[in-house]
Amino acid sequence: MTTIVKAFAAQSATSPLGPENIERRDVGPNDVGIDILYCGICHSDVHFVRNEWNNAAYPAVPGHEIVGRIHSIGANVKGHKVGNMVGVGCLVDSCRQCVDCKEDLEQFCSKSVGTYAGFDKVLNKPTYGGYSKQIVVDSHFALRIPEGLDPAAAAPLLCAGITTYSPLKKWGAGPGKKVGVVGLGGLGHMAVKFAAALGADEVVLFTTTPSKVEDAKKLGATSGVVSTDKAQMRAAINTLDLIINTVAASHDLGEYNKCLKRDGVMVLVGAPEHEHKWPPVMHLLFKRASIAGSPIGGILETQEMLDFCAEKGVASEIELIPMSKVNEAYERIVKSDVRYRFVIDMSTL
Ligand code: NAP
Ligand code: ZN
Ligand code: ZN
Repeated sequence: MTTIVKAFAAQSATSPLGPENIERRDVGPNDVGIDILYCGICHSDVHFVRNEWNNAAYPAVPGHEIVGRIHSIGANVKGHKVGNMVGVGCLVDSCRQCVDCKEDLEQFCSKSVGTYAGFDKVLNKPTYGGYSKQIVVDSHFALRIPEGLDPAAAAPLLCAGITTYSPLKKWGAGPGKKVGVVGLGGLGHMAVKFAAALGADEVVLFTTTPSKVEDAKKLGATSGVVSTDKAQMRAAINTLDLIINTVAASHDLGEYNKCLKRDGVMVLVGAPEHEHKWPPVMHLLFKRASIAGSPIGGILETQEMLDFCAEKGVASEIELIPMSKVNEAYERIVKSDVRYRFVIDMSTL
């Protein structure tokens, strides 16, 4: 027995999203069944449905910034109750036994299952994401949404939030550090908020959109650099300890590498369709600089991030939209015209 639920899907890389019915498995002994209330739109959803990563399967139901209420739980589930508000991010399963899983780093598990574009072992079918009325996941992958957080503004924390919080913590953003953030979109605006909340001395936004500089200051940035302005970029050379680069398109990493101080690190979290232009090796050598990458975060750290948000009053800046506006939202995301995360009100599906 399975349940058929309403969803929104793309049927090909070039078709818009539209109504679709999908199957959800029954709630098993370790599962929770969730009525989805809100789902954020990540730029990864756009890359995925347009097959920019060559991993799309159609119908493609995206969505991995899910918040909803538990409608049923399996007999073995502890720590969750029917009626609780929970979140689901990019992962719905992993092996739970490998070294990565044992260290609460499920994002690196070679058998982890994506919320979409993964494989549901019970149904023997692809997984479908959060642009849908309901989802069933192993309870380990359901995060508690703390009381104080607005559920709609919390949805983007499940991907944009953890993807920026995790590298900021790993590379020590905090007092004594000057942090740069490249790109003010869904991920970038969370990176600015987190870097400020973690107590970084300076938070510098790099943007291609001059009007976003003032916005970034309201979000916690100390200053902004318009990256298309050569003089402003020159003035930023050799000033930063850490850069979180969220840009969704390929660009010249060398321009930002120059902004690192000795031993500085630039962490790439953007996942563009085409490769970046990399800096000359000599520029890395003579600064002992590093360029790193970071994918989402583990379940334990995602819960820590949600609790941190409740404690510090951090949430996403959202534009709540009905499902009928989803294709328009995709076009605006591609034009960098998002302030700063679209969230779908699932009651409109
Ligand atoms: P987004 O909301 O579209 O923001 C990306 C921002 O990058 C834009 O707002 C824009 O900011 C800047 N930008 C876009 N095109 C640019 C270009 N051609 N040159 C320079 N800057 C450009 O996207 P998002 O949802 O934050 O996602 C960002 C990227 O991270 C995507 O590639 C996504 O797939 C990836 N991602 C990775 C992970 C992970 O685990 N590592 C998780 C989630 C998402 P300005 O207007 O300020 O320039
Ligand atoms: Zn995402
Ligand atoms: Zn594992």
